[in-house]
Amino acid sequence: MTTFVELSTKAKMPIIGLGTGKSPPDKVKEAVKVAIDAGYRHIDCAHIYQNEGEVGEAIQEKIQEKAVRREDLFIVSKLWPTFFERSLVKEACQRTLKDLQLSYLDLYLIHWPQGLQPGKDFIPRDDKGNILGSKTTFLDAWEALEELVDEGLVKALGISNFNHFQIERLLNKPGLRYKPVNNQVECHPYFTQEKLIQYCHSKGITVTAYGPLGSPDKPRANPGFSFPLDDPKIKAIAAKHKKTTAQVLIRFHIQRNVVVISRSVTPTHIVENFQVFDFKLNEEEMATLLSFGRTWRSYLWNELSHLEDFPFSAEY
Ligand code: NDP
Repeated sequence: MTTFVELSTKAKMPIIGLGTGKSPPDKVKEAVKVAIDAGYRHIDCAHIYQNEGEVGEAIQEKIQEKAVRREDLFIVSKLWPTFFERSLVKEACQRTLKDLQLSYLDLYLIHWPQGLQPGKDFIPRDDKGNILGSKTTFLDAWEALEELVDEGLVKALGISNFNHFQIERLLNKPGLRYKPVNNQVECHPYFTQEKLIQYCHSKGITVTAYGPLGSPDKPRANPGFSFPLDDPKIKAIAAKHKKTTAQVLIRFHIQRNVVVISRSVTPTHIVENFQVFDFKLNEEEMATLLSFGRTWRSYLWNELSHLEDFPFSAEY
């Protein structure tokens, strides 16, 4: 059973997706196949994850064996900011489509709002190691992205890691033809994003939660805090429902009408993370989970804070 969030285009986005960021190429293919068999219909990809080829092979194999039809899948990918220039946007999208072996994406997101100097490096640096920005902004990229929708390469456009000021700028862009339908941001009980979610929903923009398990394999960005997966109070809520802590962390988003993309290459975890439609957190439990909010980011991106349009300086 899958439930959906409706986009402003009226398309239905499955509320649970499989994250593939950091999934090793030699494991991601099997992970995607296990996920499709378990009922996942939404896969979150990106060119910068450097594994879209393997994800594409898995999708193709599942389509070939008639386990799923392309039109039942919801495939998301992202434009990296070294490709913001008009001449590079289409090429980047076509590269992703080729790797994924698809003729269209269901959703194409701007991965990050700051333009970066084009070139072979995803994170371009000068001799001193400083990251190099670009004068090309997300507003420039958006116009080229709109053409991808016109050409049928992409069904809908979205953004990721945008704060509400940046969303406002995009929505007020003169001549805007397609509105963003989704903003993908970090979200979990230690970083509940209440204001940003409220803002996005008020503008008809759905939200996807990345890092929903607190990215437990990532070095602690804020030392001194435990990870949500290890939180004794969250564990207690899970025990009450005879569910795992991961399942509670995923269910939390579903009840906020927020799309959730947990990552796993472990088959038992992939299956477990989808078995969240047979229980409900009560109001008190949801309030408890929300009360843990403490602006705890796993992903800080501080190295980019000297450049224009750094998104995390704003409150939300
Ligand atoms: P998650 O919070 O999903 O955590 C992933 C980690 O949790 C892995 O180490 C995984 O290990 C483990 N895990 C998964 N399921 C379970 C389980 N049931 N029990 C115990 N451990 C579990 O982290 P991510 O930071 O990867 O975020 C998810 C996805 O969001 C990414 O893969 C990517 O697609 C997207 N993302 C987007 C960003 C953006 O800028 N737009 C930034 C970061 C992420 P195992 O594989 O062994 O299960």
